[in-house]
Amino acid sequence: MEESSFVTALKNESLPALQRIPKSDLHSHAGRGGHISYIEKYANVKITPNQRPFESLFEMNQWLKDNVKCHLPQGAEGYLKQVEGSFVQAAADNVTVLALSFCVDEIQLLGGMESFKNTIDGLQKRFAPDTVLLPDLGLGYSTEEVNDLDEIFSYKWFSGIDIMNGAGTYTMSELKSICGKAKDNGLILKAHIGEFGEPEDVLRYAEELGLDQIQHGVLAAKSEKIMRYLADNQIQLNVCPTSNVMLKVSADYKTHPIHTLFANGVKVTINTDDLLIFNSTLSEEYLKLYKAGMKASDLEVIRQTGLHYS
Ligand SMILES: [Zn+2]
Repeated sequence: MEESSFVTALKNESLPALQRIPKSDLHSHAGRGGHISYIEKYANVKITPNQRPFESLFEMNQWLKDNVKCHLPQGAEGYLKQVEGSFVQAAADNVTVLALSFCVDEIQLLGGMESFKNTIDGLQKRFAPDTVLLPDLGLGYSTEEVNDLDEIFSYKWFSGIDIMNGAGTYTMSELKSICGKAKDNGLILKAHIGEFGEPEDVLRYAEELGLDQIQHGVLAAKSEKIMRYLADNQIQLNVCPTSNVMLKVSADYKTHPIHTLFANGVKVTINTDDLLIFNSTLSEEYLKLYKAGMKASDLEVIRQTGLHYS
């Protein structure tokens, strides 16, 4: 078989060549997907990227406040500059399929669903016109969110939901009812599971909620039984290697669980999570895994998996 240009780019360790090839990013938080250099240019400041792993999510969020948000206008204006950065980055790295998670408070910040969707669509058309946007509704920050679901879903704008911190906010039966409603509206069901906590959480939430995709899910690599369940049911894990290293979920790229997950037939994709914080582009993620021993042909399978969304 002829070697694909992506495989050649990996073997040559050529970042510019990797950047030119279409890729997907299916796990990215809308306001955090931009590149630090974009904010630097806009605010005319120098931002030193974070150098060592964070001790907690709290420390991570504090870093963003102290190093990025402090240079941006407050409220909607600063938020939109961050989202703009995500689209600019998608275009720069040829991310042709981009799933961005937006939370309910972000919709409220822009004055409700009508103006929210028009504004975001406008940014996408202007800064990443060749990118297919798959917006996810991020849930799990406050039980008040559920009051807005009917109205939000009625716009048929979101393609999926992404439950974050679900276990901290909702009971399993509340989550089931949210997922049922989303499913009735034809949405893809995703949840952040298996980053922290126990491997069994991955199986429990996937089974009980009928998840289509899992954000992270890397703890599943500790259990052959769970990996078999994910593989048999074609449940896709949207994995973010640098995020895992920077939050001490994985010690490094060589020992990252994605190697085991892929070898066990689990459907995985490679994604950035919070590029503005972790400072590693999608092309750089692929290159890091290649240098850490993953076969170029396997990384090509993973790239293709991400591009075949439906
Ligand atoms: Zn995430």
